[in-house]
This record gives sequence, structure tokens and C-alpha cells, in this order.
Amino acid sequence: MSNRKAGKPAAKAAKPAAKGGAKPLPKQPIDLKSQQKPAAKPESKPVAKPEAKVAPAAPRPAAPGAPGPTVAAQRPPAVAAKPAVAPASRPPAPQPIAKGKRTGNGAVKVGVVGVAGRMGQMLLKMLINAPGIVVVGGTERRGSIALGQDIGALAGSDPLGISVGDDPSLLFETADVVVDFTNPTATVQHAQMASRTGCALVIGTTGFDNDQLNSLYRAAQKAPIVLAANMSLGVNLLQQVVEEVARILDTDWDIEIIEMHHRAKIDAPSGTALALGEAAARGRGQNLRRISRRSRDGQVGPRVKGEIGFAALRGGDVVGEHSVIFATEGERIELTHKATSREIFARGALRAARWAAGRKPGSMP
Ligand code: NAD
Repeated sequence: MSNRKAGKPAAKAAKPAAKGGAKPLPKQPIDLKSQQKPAAKPESKPVAKPEAKVAPAAPRPAAPGAPGPTVAAQRPPAVAAKPAVAPASRPPAPQPIAKGKRTGNGAVKVGVVGVAGRMGQMLLKMLINAPGIVVVGGTERRGSIALGQDIGALAGSDPLGISVGDDPSLLFETADVVVDFTNPTATVQHAQMASRTGCALVIGTTGFDNDQLNSLYRAAQKAPIVLAANMSLGVNLLQQVVEEVARILDTDWDIEIIEMHHRAKIDAPSGTALALGEAAARGRGQNLRRISRRSRDGQVGPRVKGEIGFAALRGGDVVGEHSVIFATEGERIELTHKATSREIFARGALRAARWAAGRKPGSMP
């Protein structure tokens, strides 16, 4: 064990906080058994995707209060006629993708998969109002009641003329970048589509098993993919603090991680709790898989020295709370992050999307 004793100053200065939680996947797959990450590739210049691949996007609806279209002056009719009544015209039915329209000023074309979910909705609202971004489509799982609805209306904004579809392949052919907060099975399929089309993919989904993670790393060889179990700046900073504290303290300090989320969350411990556990294990020069204790129930015996314990609580509408506890005889340090709004995750995802669009696979920030 390579821990330094308590009280010794950290040898290395803390790294600057990660930007918005964006963690691009390196081009080479990671061998999760050996936990050896491949060397980071130097950042490459953004490369514009060939225009032919990308369907042009829809113009934004006029902002409220914007001047209406100018109307050419008309000569009055020579003969007084009945006022012409314009035939009642139905608004055009929304299309599943913004096709046949051009994006102006190099705006980034973004698609959202899982567009009707908690995060999908939060993200969509933010994207619609973000400068330099054009939403080109959104998908949902087959059977979702959101299918066919206008995605603008779904987000409580003006209609965008784009309906929620169930064919993500169309979206990957059209968008510069797709953002994915769905579930591991769907995300693996989306990553394969990204690798086929070269479209960038920002993944916020959590709960992947090792096979699924490896499949994401394979896809990252062919498309720029950003993966972050937590897109908030605060949690990414917390990871660095936890790693540093774990490096300073020895194994007389027990590490326990507690997380709480809303009642609908389906994976446990949360991806963020596991990322914090990995940060702590890294600080101790350990592999989390060897020292993690996922749950305790019944006659489990005394705590094993050096293990990192996890506890997951579920209830109500809690957005996400994480505490890393360092406990020893007579004292305890608790490092806590509390998310009170999903906006922090959507903001990080938006930042990651801007960064990833047009990158080469394997780019690093
Ligand atoms: P949610 O259940 O509200 O939303 C998921 C949506 O994905 C649903 O609308 C569902 O119908 C849809 N979906 C499922 N399969 C699909 C498919 N094949 N194609 C398209 N859509 C599909 O869940 P949520 O709270 O929005 O969270 C989604 C994921 O994001 C979870 O894994 C969660 O842990 C994770 N999350 C990550 C962060 C982060 O910062 N990285 C933050 C919050 C949540």
C-alpha cells in the first residue's frame, strides 16, 4: 500500500477541476481486468464532418416579440369584392427529423435520445434556448406515449415541427452530436450507431456492466464519445478532492460512501458513487473491484480493514446526494455533494456536446 501517513502534505498539487464532467473515451478499449488505461491521445483539431452526411436542420421558430415577416404592399382590388377568406390551413404535421433545412452560422446539430425522460426533458429545454445549437430530433423507446408528439411542445416551448421518433439511426445520420440519458442496453446500441456514422455521442447513462463498458470503448475507436457518470462540475471536483484525501490518509481511516436518489432510479450504487469509490481507491493505489463492499446484511462480521463500503438509499424525488466518509478513532471527515436540480447535469451535457461535435475519435480535452 502506498499511502502516506495522516498529516503529511500532499506531494502533488491538486489538478484543476474537470470541465463539466466531460470524460472523453480514449480510442483504445480499456482492459478492465488490468485497469490499465491506454495513454491519452493528444487533442486533435476538430474535423468538420462531410456536409453530404448531414441533413440540414430546421430553423428556430421566431422568438416571441420578433418582427413578423414583411408583407408586400398590394394594390386594392378594382372591384369591391367580398373579403377573401384564407382557406383554413392545418399546421404541418411534425416530422421525426429536421430534414431538408439548413443550419445557419455553423450551429451544432444536436439530437436527444430518451427525449421524454427526466434528463431528456431537462436537456431539451436547455438546448432549445442555447445559442449556436439546433435541435434536429429526439427519440424514445418503442411504445412510449411521447412518440409522435412535437418535441418543442413536449418541452413546454413553441412547437419545433419535429416529432418524437423511434428510429435513432436517422438521428445519428443527421446530427453532429447525440446526447444520451437512457439505459445501458439502449446506450450500447446508440454507441454502435455512433461508430457506424461517426456522429459524436455524449453519454450520461449509468449502470453499465463490464461487457457494456468494453463495447462503449470499442465504439469510441470510430466516433468521439464522452462518458460521464455525473455531468456536474461539483461532483467532478469532489472526485479529485476524494482522491487527494484518500492519498493522504492511511487505512486506519475507513472509507464509506452513501448515496441517495429518487425512488425511480433503477441502478445501485449510483454511477457517481462508484466513480467516487474509484477515486478513493486510486488515491490509495488500489483497484476498487478488489476492495469494494457493495452491501451489508445479516451477520457480516466486523469491517475489513481497507475496504470501501457503499450504501444506497432510495426515496421521494431526491435528485442526487453523495457523501464520502473517512472515519477513524475519535474523528470523521465527511465530503458531501447535493444536487438540487437536474439542470447541473444538463448544463454539463450541453458543454460536453459543444466540445464533442466534430472531434476525432480519441480526442482529449
Ligand atoms: P428516465 O427513466 O426518466 O429517462 C430515460 C428515458 O429513456 C425514458 O424516457 C425512456 O423511455 C427512454 N428510453 C429507454 N430506452 C430507450 C431507447 N431504446 N431509445 C430511446 N429512449 C429510450 O431516467 P433519467 O432520470 O432521465 O436518467 C436516465 C439515465 O441517466 C440513468 O442511467 C441515470 O442514472 C442517468 N443520469 C446521469 C446523470 C449524469 O450526470 N451523468 C444525471 C442524471 C441521471
